[in-house]
Amino acid sequence: MATPNDIIQKAQGEGRTVLTETESKQLLKGLGIPTTEMRLAATEAEAVATAAEIGYPCVLKVSSHDITHKSDAGGVKVGLKDAAEVAAAYQAIMASCRAAYPQAVIDGVTVQDMAKPGVEVIVGMATDPQFGPVLMFGLGGVWVELLKDVSFKLVPLNRADAKAAIGDIRAARLLEGFRGSDPVDKGALEDILLRVSDFVAATPAVAEMDLNPIFAYSDGAVAVDARVILGA
Ligand code: ADP
Ligand code: MG
Repeated sequence: MATPNDIIQKAQGEGRTVLTETESKQLLKGLGIPTTEMRLAATEAEAVATAAEIGYPCVLKVSSHDITHKSDAGGVKVGLKDAAEVAAAYQAIMASCRAAYPQAVIDGVTVQDMAKPGVEVIVGMATDPQFGPVLMFGLGGVWVELLKDVSFKLVPLNRADAKAAIGDIRAARLLEGFRGSDPVDKGALEDILLRVSDFVAATPAVAEMDLNPIFAYSDGAVAVDARVILGA
């Protein structure tokens, strides 16, 4: 399996600073952060065959070095229940992504297992010119845009910092179990923060990371989308 450094070196060798979702998730896997299973399919027929292997329901997403905000381009279809839905999703993704990005080189789609619903959170990393790498934690989905409810910690984080990052958001109560739902596994979220922190502390080539969203469960958490950006 390619190590995180192999993945970074390959992108650098190709003169790219933005890793694809596939590369970003391989990198996370190398750090011990759970992600959805995903495989590249270059044609509609391959997508249908791959979906049968991965199982239903599944998710199709555009795979292109040139398209980083996939759903804005109509490049994400979730909850696909059978071969006919996968075939239709493949065609719809190709049509809308070609229309939105006529110049993009599109490799095909990734076929992914559909993560069961959880509390959507995000973990981000950015490089501050003065303070260096900073981690961000917050609620995902509409909440991050609506409430800007996020907390920041300087890298490197220890376990207490990770706990504080999670506890500091105003909506922390949502993670405690809300209206009968189970509390989320905060230990799993702390582990993700610590693994990202250790990785970026050791890897100055990484300028930004975006695990958005992570689905948090009462037992574990899984990154369903990821984007890693290297320094120029
Ligand atoms: P974007 O590039 O637009 O950020 P995402 O990969 O984040 O695309 O997909 C958009 C949304 O689709 C996610 O926020 C999530 O709610 C849902 N989604 C994406 N992948 C999966 C998956 N494998 N399982 C379940 N839901 C998913
Ligand atoms: Mg996303």
